[in-house]
Amino acid sequence: MDVSSLINTLNDAQRRAVTAPSKAMLILAGAGSGKTRVLVHRIAWQIQVEGLSPHSILAVTFTNKAAHEMRDRVEKLLKFPTQAMWIGTFHGLAHRILRRHASEAQLPTTFQVMDSDDQLRVIKRLLKSMQIDDKKWPPKQIQWFINAQKDEGLRAKHLSHNGDFFLEQMIKLYQAYEVICHRSGLVDFAELLLKAHELLRDTPELLIFYRQRFRQVHVDEFQDTNKVQYAWLRLLTEGKDNLFIVGDDDQSIYGWRGAQIVNIFNFQSDYPNHELIRLEQNYRSTAHILQAANQLITHNSNRMGKELWTDSGAGELISLYSAFNERDEAYFVIDRIQQWLEAGTLKKEVAILYRSNAQSRQFEERLMTEAIPYRVYGGLRFFERAEIKNALAYLRLLSNRNDDPSFERIINTPTRGIGTRTLDSLREFAKDQQISLWQATERRINENFFSPRAANALKKFQALMQDLETQLQESELYEKVKLVGEKSGLIEFYKKEKEDRGEARIENLEELVNAARAFDYPHEEGETLSDLDMFLAHATLESGEMQGADADDCIQLMTLHSAKGLEFKQVFMVGLEEGLFPSGRSIEDVARLEEERRLCYVGITRAMEKLCISYAESRRLYGKESYPSPSRFLREIPKDCLQEVRFRANISQDTQRHTAKKVIKNSGLYHKGDKISHAKFGAGTILQLEGEGAHEKVQIKFRESGLKWLMVAYAKLERLS
Ligand code: ATP
Ligand code: MG
Repeated sequence: MDVSSLINTLNDAQRRAVTAPSKAMLILAGAGSGKTRVLVHRIAWQIQVEGLSPHSILAVTFTNKAAHEMRDRVEKLLKFPTQAMWIGTFHGLAHRILRRHASEAQLPTTFQVMDSDDQLRVIKRLLKSMQIDDKKWPPKQIQWFINAQKDEGLRAKHLSHNGDFFLEQMIKLYQAYEVICHRSGLVDFAELLLKAHELLRDTPELLIFYRQRFRQVHVDEFQDTNKVQYAWLRLLTEGKDNLFIVGDDDQSIYGWRGAQIVNIFNFQSDYPNHELIRLEQNYRSTAHILQAANQLITHNSNRMGKELWTDSGAGELISLYSAFNERDEAYFVIDRIQQWLEAGTLKKEVAILYRSNAQSRQFEERLMTEAIPYRVYGGLRFFERAEIKNALAYLRLLSNRNDDPSFERIINTPTRGIGTRTLDSLREFAKDQQISLWQATERRINENFFSPRAANALKKFQALMQDLETQLQESELYEKVKLVGEKSGLIEFYKKEKEDRGEARIENLEELVNAARAFDYPHEEGETLSDLDMFLAHATLESGEMQGADADDCIQLMTLHSAKGLEFKQVFMVGLEEGLFPSGRSIEDVARLEEERRLCYVGITRAMEKLCISYAESRRLYGKESYPSPSRFLREIPKDCLQEVRFRANISQDTQRHTAKKVIKNSGLYHKGDKISHAKFGAGTILQLEGEGAHEKVQIKFRESGLKWLMVAYAKLERLS
């Protein structure tokens, strides 16, 4: 058997990890050292050389995208399909197991997964029905409390308040929330994990079945597992020593969501016979980039400690740009991108990474103006758009009539004359009788409780759902999605909305039909999951990963969190300002600050060839103007890795003192009222001037193209008067 393709491209340590006989193993190594590569090659090795069936392999990764990539890469190495292998995220795999064994897990077979928005909606309704003031008990805080308990594996019944009033109330709410979710067949994200763990723990036959099935279990990004996830892995592999994990303590960035680095230590003591392999060569980045990352992370005290080296060349220095404000930052970044593209870089090799989703807008606007295609991961999530959620809510309610959040969402969308009084009374009745809103509607109609008008409107809604159900029965998944858009009246409804907005919404609904058409779920024999249920779960679990086709060549925009595990030739890390990155809330808290620093380490190490870091002297974000100082992380990067860049002009800045001394004043070239012409936008009049030197901008009212701000250094304006 020729196994050279599996090991030829590995270094010694990697090869040892890939070819080791079955045992518990920990690959602990820094960014870009080939951890994911080792994991992929090991799976292929086990199938090809050890003779394992793909059916007996379980692999957990962090995103759906990573899971797809991993399967592709294994298939490329093996040259045959591996449908039977289970690869996915913890949430996706937990969902799969719960669907297969819903009754053992005490879930209705029609259960639906709800995202955090829906979860919040349920909590708000709960507070209202219990007449609890949501000012004193903010729904978000309750949501956070519930999820944190679940991540720790705790149900309301496990908690005690010891006379603490706050805790007492929280536990009471948690309990009531559990009852509602159970009644409506709704499962939140944290519940998926907790339930999947309880299911295996409490059903010995199933545990034995899965233990026998999964002969090898692999986990990427292990540093970001939480307590329940680890407990679940432990159940599956206890006593078998077949758990293979790769991770990097320096890249643990989900502490705020319950991840605990301590799992790495737990693994070491729970699997005393494990082998630890360290990888030290970085294959991803040039030396300057790597040196910056290595140096930055030494400022954290809580580390396992490791050093990475590379034998690739020094490469370019890291560019540092001090922007005048957030718009200037976006101008600069897009300008650079244009230069890189002209020099032959592909768009998909360029990423803009930011700390907070709200930062993406400025870049999106510039990219749109310049007609450069881009794709935002997360943030502007496709599946979170109102019109998409509305269409999905119809489908969800069709699948499970007791799904109250979906009922609430569409009962009056499009409007069908059901008043708030009628709805309130339904809610009240549902609560008293401990039934769902749908059931409450049925009962109240039978009892002739409502006025004929209200009853009629409700009956129409019932009839619509009934009709839809009949019409959808025999159709393909994408036809179902299409029919729902049409028959529910949603499309009609959006047609009436203001032109652009309504049109965009309809386009999105069309995109949803496309997504359904492209949806391909690897069914296994004997699996009885309906395509619709799988699609709905997919929409909830994987939101944000559906925009545009992966293969499209476009600029990649994402938060630093979602960049984990990925790599790009050229990276912009933007908004390095105190209060933004590190975030405001982390500044006072050492543990959180260290997590922010790890996030910065993750950001730097995404770059292969070029890294460009920027910060703004003033920033408008969330509707507020601030004048932040540059991020402390900039001072933690060695000076000799950095190169300050100026945006097309000679302005001198002293970044060490982080005060900008502008030497050039307003060019004096333009004045308010000047008539100019621009190559793309045509003729216009200058309304305002702002900034100076390289940052000098003018606001112009163009005859054809409306109001625009342009950089003087750039715009190549021609004076007309
Ligand atoms: P991260 O911590 O960011 O997840 P990682 O440790 O998982 O990184 P990989 O993504 O597996 O690292 O590898 C980083 C890059 O280095 C990839 O492009 C990979 O193909 C390349 N690489 C890894 N090992 C080797 C090797 N032995 N020879 C050549 N290239 C390698
Ligand atoms: Mg990786």
